[in-house]
Amino acid sequence: AAGYRLGIKETERPKDDHRAYSVHVERAESIQEIRLQLPILQKEQEIMEAVHNNTVVVLKGDTGSGKTTQLPQFLFEAGYGDKDGLTPGMIGITQPRRVAAVSMAKRVAQELGNHGDKVAHQIRFDTTVSSKTAIKFMTDGVLLRELSQDLLLKKYSAIIIDEAHERSVNTDLLIGILSKIVPARMKKSEQNPDPKPLKLIIMSATLNIKDFLHEKLFSTFMRPALVEAEGRQHRVTTHFALRSRPDYLEETVEKVKRAHKKLPRGGILVFLTGQNEIKYVLSRLRKDLVRPTAKLEEAAPRMHISAVDTPLELEDLDIGDIHTTSQEDLDLADEIDIVTDEEELDKEFEVSDDDDEEGMVDVPALRQDKIALKRDPYDTVHLLPLYSQLPTKDQLRIFEPPPERSRLIVLSTNVAETSLTIPNIRYVIDCGRSKERKFNSETNTQSFEVDYISKASAQQRAGRAGRTAPGHCWRLYSSAIYEQYFPEHTEPEILRTPAENVVLSVKGFRFPKPVTDFPFPTAPTRTTLANAERLLKHLGAIAGPNGALTDLGKKMTLYPVNPRLSKIIIHAIEKAPKALNQIILLASALSVDDIFVNQTQISPEVDDDGHDDEQDKLKQRYGRAHALFSRQDKASDALKLLTAAQLYLKDSEKDHFCQQFFLRSKAMQEISQLYSQLCSMIRSTHPHLSHVLGTAQLTETTKPDVVKSINTSAASGYIDQIAIRYDLHPEQSIVASSPRRAIDVPYFPLIPINQRTGNSEKRPAFIHPSSVLAKLSTKVLPQYIVYRHLQERTNSQVLTSSDTEIVKTRMLPLCTVDATAL
Ligand code: ADP
Ligand code: MG
Repeated sequence: AAGYRLGIKETERPKDDHRAYSVHVERAESIQEIRLQLPILQKEQEIMEAVHNNTVVVLKGDTGSGKTTQLPQFLFEAGYGDKDGLTPGMIGITQPRRVAAVSMAKRVAQELGNHGDKVAHQIRFDTTVSSKTAIKFMTDGVLLRELSQDLLLKKYSAIIIDEAHERSVNTDLLIGILSKIVPARMKKSEQNPDPKPLKLIIMSATLNIKDFLHEKLFSTFMRPALVEAEGRQHRVTTHFALRSRPDYLEETVEKVKRAHKKLPRGGILVFLTGQNEIKYVLSRLRKDLVRPTAKLEEAAPRMHISAVDTPLELEDLDIGDIHTTSQEDLDLADEIDIVTDEEELDKEFEVSDDDDEEGMVDVPALRQDKIALKRDPYDTVHLLPLYSQLPTKDQLRIFEPPPERSRLIVLSTNVAETSLTIPNIRYVIDCGRSKERKFNSETNTQSFEVDYISKASAQQRAGRAGRTAPGHCWRLYSSAIYEQYFPEHTEPEILRTPAENVVLSVKGFRFPKPVTDFPFPTAPTRTTLANAERLLKHLGAIAGPNGALTDLGKKMTLYPVNPRLSKIIIHAIEKAPKALNQIILLASALSVDDIFVNQTQISPEVDDDGHDDEQDKLKQRYGRAHALFSRQDKASDALKLLTAAQLYLKDSEKDHFCQQFFLRSKAMQEISQLYSQLCSMIRSTHPHLSHVLGTAQLTETTKPDVVKSINTSAASGYIDQIAIRYDLHPEQSIVASSPRRAIDVPYFPLIPINQRTGNSEKRPAFIHPSSVLAKLSTKVLPQYIVYRHLQERTNSQVLTSSDTEIVKTRMLPLCTVDATAL
């Protein structure tokens, strides 16, 4: 190992320099060139010294500065990770998003040249980890699960918690627990006879980080060292809209079209809130921007005409027969509408005066680009969607260079905000909103709501335009809205979700203290914690005045699903072994958000030619698919789910099956994988039940006793979510005015006896229209309904903007139970 990455020869370095033990990495020259431009590389020595001298390091650096790709390599080169190295034990890096874990592992493997095979990823149901692995990228959830096997994380010499600023529940939980593990690793004990330090590096984009530094987390002797790495951010000019239009999707389509037509070279990144919106905008843009090949050939020569500045090296250009700039050419140029004037560009995009005052328009760079545009214009666009439900291989397409002569346009959710840096983006169009799961701990309802992002997020999004060159960001909202309604920072997820998972995990970590003493970066509210404890009590996971884990609770921590579902599984093992197979499959199906493609999602795809017939046929097919799954039992959404999953597992052409029946194939794959995982877990813990498990044993579930077992087990996990028909409830105070449709029949969510408090609000809930119960006659509606969620309101989506907002509380039913089962 003669060479050294910073150009210092091994022999020239002082003996006590910890870098003297570095591992030699041979990188491709092209890779090395790119690396050297990353701001983080200038900080390598400072970072590694901080890691060397401290147990905990917080690294704060701009998005795209190289934290995720470089930090693991710095550690590796310093001898971490390799079994034969100075500091054996893997380097673990956690990501809140699966797509980031996979793509970053791929990238680092590529960069690490001769050691590339030592990089692996592990996400749920997909891993490339082997005995060689030295650098392991994983989701934060995977590392949390590993803690239940090995609380001291002895396999690791360093843990990097990446994207800490995203404040996912899992990341917060990891930081809390790691603040305890790190000192425990240094103490000799029965479990830890050979203490070896565990380095902890918390990485965050340039955002609020004080929550990771407070005293409750890290005691004085572990005070984290803080290293800041500034990014080499180019200037980004931000343009606010003059008015905020509610139909921001239309606005987006228009903006993208104009931007593509007028703007110099550079990719366009569009931030939208979810899959639906992305698909819709994608289909609109495809229709308008992707021209059929024949037309394109016709149009192409006109695109190459240089309109104004003649002193271009014409011979370098492929401009067909035209070699002079005549008046005719100029006219043609007008037609294709090349932006020739700075002012016009700004007018076009409604730059407000404020922006000009800041003097942020980078004129020379743009002018140069305009020349480049004339040299190398685009013929077409390369449209790519990016959202978490997209298959991984399609997600990775954003890193591939777009086809020649096409402009990259990426339509993305939040994923592209800080996790992934898409190369060569120069323009950002930001709708200013994101979709978030919201949870109201008072009413125990959850909803997905499209809401304004924070100022910090808006700034991050804009920043994506300035990675490679000066860029522009168009915000589809006014500066007044931004000032008035955008919070400074996004609230940590832990404040927005129910905490039963968190509480069960914390109790599983065997801290003798109450949960409220757990060192959360931001603690869940007392109400949320109390609700979680109450639910865990109902499920039987905790008991006693201190809420200690019961035997059942301990068992529940072993299953890779939430407490409700593990309760269902354990209930089935103990009480309904005959229906166990089906119940495991049902639990697997309940672990994903929704398996059915939303009906609003199917229409934009066929919109292309505006054939209404096609639309109608599709809707009919959609209806038939749903009817097929709910055929055998009319009154249970659980059985519908189960039937769909069962037919999917039995089908040999799975992708085709999903397409035909409008199922989300990624969700179905996950169900299938979870089902197999659960089966094999139970086979090993309960060998006497092996014979009932497995796809081959799945049979149609029409027998009344099996159906009853399924319902009873399902209810055991939702014991606190049972509603009774209003007109049958003894405490009923209002009489429903003879409803005509099932969805208008009010139900009263029962509050479990020991949860009743004086102020509990008695609000009726109505059957969600997507339920199989919605089609029943009101006369045969069941007395009791076990429901999955209450929904406060469904946000009126822009796609169906004519719908009025539904302000009723809706419940998503699961099954029915008899009073005797309660
Ligand atoms: P940070 O973690 O600080 O946000 P990253 O390490 O993710 O920064 O990114 C550093 C650079 O590496 C970015 O310019 C990004 O575009 C590039 N990069 C990351 N992954 C890939 C990939 N798969 N292919 C090409 N470039 C990549
Ligand atoms: Mg990163």
